[in-house]
Amino acid sequence: MLVRFQPQVNNLTELNEHQLKGLKWTVNHAHKNSTFFKEKFNQAGITPDIIKSLDDLRKLPFTTASDFRSDYPYPMRSVAHADIIRIHASSGTTGKRKVACYTQKDIDDWRDMFCRCYEMAGLTREDRVQICVGYGVWTAGAGFQLACEQFGAMAIPSGMGNLEMQMTFLEDFETSVLCCTASMALLVAQEVNKRGLRDKIHLKKIIAGSERTSPAMKAKIMELLGVEEYYDIPGLTELYGPGTGLSCSFSENIHYWADYYILEIINPDTLEPVAPGEIGEMVYTTLGKEATPLIRYRSRDLTRIITEPCPCGCFLPRHSPILGRSDDMFVIRGVNVYPGEIDIILSSCKNVGSEYQIILERKDDGKDYMIIRVERDKQTETAADQESRDWIHEQVRQKIMVSPIVEIVDYNKLPRSERKTKRIFDNRKI
Ligand code: ZN
Repeated sequence: MLVRFQPQVNNLTELNEHQLKGLKWTVNHAHKNSTFFKEKFNQAGITPDIIKSLDDLRKLPFTTASDFRSDYPYPMRSVAHADIIRIHASSGTTGKRKVACYTQKDIDDWRDMFCRCYEMAGLTREDRVQICVGYGVWTAGAGFQLACEQFGAMAIPSGMGNLEMQMTFLEDFETSVLCCTASMALLVAQEVNKRGLRDKIHLKKIIAGSERTSPAMKAKIMELLGVEEYYDIPGLTELYGPGTGLSCSFSENIHYWADYYILEIINPDTLEPVAPGEIGEMVYTTLGKEATPLIRYRSRDLTRIITEPCPCGCFLPRHSPILGRSDDMFVIRGVNVYPGEIDIILSSCKNVGSEYQIILERKDDGKDYMIIRVERDKQTETAADQESRDWIHEQVRQKIMVSPIVEIVDYNKLPRSERKTKRIFDNRKI
C-alpha cells in the first residue's frame, strides 16, 4: 500500500472533484498566460467558463505533436521565461524535437509522482537502484535520478550502454533494482547469462519503460536475471516524462496517476470516446502543470481502460500496457486490428517464440488475407506445428474477428533488429 507518496485524494468521488478543479484551473491558466492556447480557444470560439463539469472537457479542441513542432522552441509556454527552471526534449528522429518546459512546481510534482512509482514497486531506502537509462536532454535519466534521491534509495547513475560497466556495478554494488528500457534489460539479462553471473548478483526488481514489450520477452528477462518482480513504467516527454504511472504486482496493467492528469481514450477515426474497456488512443489533459500544460493532447498511443478494480487495493484507475500506435493500426475486412493484440495472443502460445510478422495480401479471389508468420520456439519439435497453428488461428478468430493464415517457421528465420523491428507488411497497395 502507498504510504508516503499517496494520492492527493482518498476515493473516486474525491478524484472527480479534484479533476474538475484541476481542469478548470488548467484551462483558465492556459487561456490567460499562453498565446498558443488563447489563439486555439479563440479559433474554436470558446472561453474558459465553458467548463462546468468533467464532461465539458470534450468541448475543448485537441492538440497534437505538430502543435509541439509548430510552436517550437517553447511550445504552449504558459509561464514567464523567468519561472522556467528546466527544459527537456524528446529524442525526435525526424524534424524538430518536442520541447517541454518545467517550473519548480512541475519538477516537484513529477518527482512526487515518480516516488509513488518506487513506493508502489515496494522499494525501501535500503534499495540500490542502477539507473541504466539515457541521461541528457531527454527525461529518463533526470526523472529516475531525482525521484530516487528524494525517495531515499541509493542511485547508481550508470546510464545507457556500456555492458561491461553495468556487469561490474551489478556485482560490486549489489544492485537490487534495475531501471532501463526493455531492450536494455534483455541485453543485460543475456550478458548476465553468458557470464554465469546469475547467482552472484542481488537483483530483485526491474522497472522498465518506454517501449512496448511482449509477455514472452518479459518472462525471458526475468528468467535470465532470476528476478520475480517486473514493473512497467510509462513515460511521455510531453507529460512530464517517465513516472506518471506503474504496473503493480498483481498484473501487467498500469495504475496511472489520475490526480495529476485526465486520460481520455478516443477512437482515432471518429475522435469520439470509446466505450469503457475498448481500445483507443490515449489523450492527456494535465491538472496542475504550469509551464507546458497539456489540453486534450493526442499521443497516438493505444490502450484500453481496465474497468475492474485492482486486487492490490490502489483505487487509482488502470489502463492496459501500450498496445501500439494508432498509426500502426490496420483494417482488414472491415475490422480494426492493433498489432499489440496479436502480440499478446502469440505470447501466450507456448510453442512459438517472440518473433513474428503480419503480412496482408489481396489474393486473386479479390479478398484480403492476413498471414501471421511466427517462429517456432527454440526447444519445440516440428511435430507441434499443427497444434500451434490451430490454436493461434482459433484465438485470433475469436478475439480479433479475423480468420488468419498461420505459418510456423524455423527458429531464427525472421530478421531481428536492436530497435524497432518491422512486423507489418501490407502488400495490398501494390
Ligand atoms: Zn494494482
